[in-house]
Amino acid sequence: MTMAFEEEKKTMPPMAGMRREPSPWNGGTFAEFAPQAFMAGQQRPLALYVHVPFCHHHCTFCPFYINQTKKDFSAKYTALLLKEIADTAEVLKDVAHKRKVDVIYFGGGTPTDLEKDDMASVIRSLFDHFDISPDAEVTVEGRNTGFTAEKGQAWVTAGANRFSIGLQAANTQLRKKLGRLASREEAGATLNELADTGASVVIDLLYGLPGQTEEILIEDVRYISEQTRIAGLDLYELRMFPGSPLEKAIERGKMPAIPEFPEKARLFGAAYKNLIAGGFDHFSPRHWRRTPNERSLYNRLAGEQTDMIPFGSAAGGRLGTIGLSTARDIKSYTEMVERGEKPLGRITEAPLAVEKTGFDKELDMAFETIRVPAIDKWPDSLRESGSLLLAQWKKAGLLEGDVDGPGMGFTCAGFYWSSRMKKLLLEFAAEPVPA
Ligand code: SF4
Repeated sequence: MTMAFEEEKKTMPPMAGMRREPSPWNGGTFAEFAPQAFMAGQQRPLALYVHVPFCHHHCTFCPFYINQTKKDFSAKYTALLLKEIADTAEVLKDVAHKRKVDVIYFGGGTPTDLEKDDMASVIRSLFDHFDISPDAEVTVEGRNTGFTAEKGQAWVTAGANRFSIGLQAANTQLRKKLGRLASREEAGATLNELADTGASVVIDLLYGLPGQTEEILIEDVRYISEQTRIAGLDLYELRMFPGSPLEKAIERGKMPAIPEFPEKARLFGAAYKNLIAGGFDHFSPRHWRRTPNERSLYNRLAGEQTDMIPFGSAAGGRLGTIGLSTARDIKSYTEMVERGEKPLGRITEAPLAVEKTGFDKELDMAFETIRVPAIDKWPDSLRESGSLLLAQWKKAGLLEGDVDGPGMGFTCAGFYWSSRMKKLLLEFAAEPVPA
């Protein structure tokens, strides 16, 4: 687990101000380009993304905090969302019925801070204005605090079928350090009440938190497995964002440092083994589930350049080769919606990546299902040396299964190193074959 490769230092993506500025947009207004751009992607999946950039308070580890939830924010923001949805649908009125929506996702921020009837009206409005597929995944993301069973039931009645809760950790002391208010038992009770609505309930779980030991993480996984009825979870490594409250607290000595490699690898291993023991199936790189109905469709499509119409302030999306970002500043967002404009802060050329072919594509497809490509999918010239490499990785405890079988699976250690292994396989495939 800790000896297969040397740890690579991960660098954080550049912050907004440091990114290269895109060329100025000359392609007209949303009303002018959207109908044609919408139709151009008919063969691709379609998503609607609604951003709710308000939080009760700033969790220490989080880079996504923008606005604090104020007392009357829900009604005001809902009125803006309803107008934006209706105005967007008006722009697309001649074409909207020609594509079915596969995914609706409410992200944030904390969408679950919206009042019960407000969120229900936004969900219904999307169903009224767009052609939503009968098996669409409709997710509301949020947190335990402020999310009641009554809200959950009302939102399921309106059309939601999945709740994604940022639990992050179950241990009560650790949760408090992260700025999470509910105790383990309170959080667990909310998850179970939400599961009783019939929706699929999924959580985020972090490893590599300051002060998180293997014992704490194992007990968290045991509690989640045995005491909650969640359908799935996403397991993430904590990434420290520059300037986050967490980084400042660690610098001031108020929090222990975050675990480094190899402790971090051991934490991952503890979570991995205990999730499997707890009945979870590791079905895509970050996602674990206990029922096959849990698809994690939004996460998959979001990584595939899916057409995604953004709504709300600080939302991102695209229509074909046009990148769309709504105004981040709530005042600008409000003014644009009130003027009847699509509230776009930025429109950019966003060319679609060239579709992969050959071994690159085989690698992507196999890694998405936690495997390496079967040896008969490798280029002829690489099969012999590839078999030797796979056998070596099996001997090192990184892969399991038959080298000549239908694609070897990663072991726990192998999955921890899977990004590195993929990089090596790409380099291996790109090397010229000796004559
Ligand atoms: S973790 Fe969620 S609730 Fe906490 S600050 Fe970030 S977006 Fe807001």
